[in-house]
Amino acid sequence: MTPPRILVLGAGIAGLAAGWRILRESEARGRHVEVVVAEAGRTHGGSIATEKADGYLLESGPDCFLAIKPAGVELCRELGLEANLIGTVEANRRSFVVQSGRLHPVPEGFYLMAPGSIRVLAGSALFSWPGKFRMGLELFVRRRKETTDESLASFVRRRLGRECLERLAQPMIAGITTADPEKLSMLAAMPQFPEMEREHGSLIRAMRKRKAAPGTSGPRYGMFATLDGGMQILTDSLAASLGTRLRTATRVTALRPSGAGWTATLDPGGDLEAAAVVCALPAPRAAELMDEPAADVAALLRTIPFASVVTVHLGYREEEAALPEAMGFVVPAVEGRFTVAASFTSRKFPGRAPPGSALLRVFAGGATREGDADLPDDEVLERVQADLRDLMEIRATPSLVRIHRHRGAMAQYHVGHLDRVAEIERRAAKLPPFAFAGCSYRGVGVPDCIKSGSDAARGMLERLGI
Ligand SMILES: Cc1cc2nc3c(=O)[nH]c(=O)nc-3n(C[C@H](O)[C@H](O)[C@H](O)COP(=O)(O)OP(=O)(O)OC[C@H]3O[C@@H](n4cnc5c(N)ncnc54)[C@H](O)[C@@H]3O)c2cc1C
Repeated sequence: MTPPRILVLGAGIAGLAAGWRILRESEARGRHVEVVVAEAGRTHGGSIATEKADGYLLESGPDCFLAIKPAGVELCRELGLEANLIGTVEANRRSFVVQSGRLHPVPEGFYLMAPGSIRVLAGSALFSWPGKFRMGLELFVRRRKETTDESLASFVRRRLGRECLERLAQPMIAGITTADPEKLSMLAAMPQFPEMEREHGSLIRAMRKRKAAPGTSGPRYGMFATLDGGMQILTDSLAASLGTRLRTATRVTALRPSGAGWTATLDPGGDLEAAAVVCALPAPRAAELMDEPAADVAALLRTIPFASVVTVHLGYREEEAALPEAMGFVVPAVEGRFTVAASFTSRKFPGRAPPGSALLRVFAGGATREGDADLPDDEVLERVQADLRDLMEIRATPSLVRIHRHRGAMAQYHVGHLDRVAEIERRAAKLPPFAFAGCSYRGVGVPDCIKSGSDAARGMLERLGI
């Protein structure tokens, strides 16, 4: 009997994790399944790519992942990469937020926008006294009755006031998702905060109960992990396990239900039959393939927007760029700067810059600044350098510059996102065995994408009775 074939579309982290999981689980069950992972690009990894140049280690996409979401660390362990896992440099686990053109420490004891206590709030130099007073009133703001979704901006204005939104919440969240706070879904992107409100009636009260870890600030870098040789170690390891089952430079151009399964057209390669399909493409690319088999699903996929970002690595001699002992900074939109956020990469992780050198990485663009990611390289560099001059007094010409553009790479979860995803999944369940995975649906972070790939793999094995 010929073994069933499962076709995985896309070899970003979600598709690679899905392909790998299908192999591993089917082997564990003593069943033979044929896996094909088709990737349009010349290389695997999607947004994840590590480059080594002049003694620097440069991440073009993600440079780390949340260790508290288990899927990332667990997969590294399963792949035998545990010894390669490293955390951020402990002594530097703090970050800054720009205010009036200067770097201010993100107040200790804050969890993103939520203050740990009134004392923590009162001691912060980041907010005006009226702003602090309004944030303190959060203790008395009535719990929202509706359980429907709302935007980040609406949530923060309602609970903590406008100043907290503009000075802290917007830049902290933009530093992670590059999102427009007026559109970003609380339920999809930060469900922990509505949950804190529901459970405790107040974020400050919830924080008191949680006893936020002292000494950490900002987007809790202490909770992040990466790999000593860069994130690509993870995708390379998955790709190596898949071997020739992974077909790079192979675009999937069409998908049609056929009998109980699917026929996909690969370019090059022609038609390929599969019993099940895991689609790990970004939603707009998935929509192109769903037009024929399920136009209603394609239309829903097109309602998930994506934003573009540009990142700039800059390498200096250490004495030319005195980086604070911290992870980096975020810039509120109200500051009117080109830079959205910056990582002090050589402070954040060991082994990212040659001895005596400093490495920075600046982010620009995003959902509210789309055009910025399309500016020519010289203008991007000029504007980044102007910001670094003003904010950090770095005037030297960098000896290393790398500009990476990620066009349409950052999924944007708008209000109502989870309902849209549930509807997409409900409709897709009526098709022959088919599952979506990846950053478009239930989390943009690397661990979320890994989990979505693993879940999709298990779901398809189950549908095939394996
Ligand atoms: C600059 C940047 C920084 C980030 N930083 C972090 C971070 O620090 N931590 C974190 O957790 N997350 C971070 N993220 C988010 C995270 O990296 C992504 O959400 C995740 O890598 C997306 O993985 P994916 O597999 O869903 O999609 P992708 O990586 O986009 O992979 C999709 C793949 O599908 C392929 N494809 C498209 N169309 C076709 C087709 N027709 N046929 C075949 N293949 C096709 C593409 O070539 C691509 O390889 C960052 C993202 C970016 C862009």
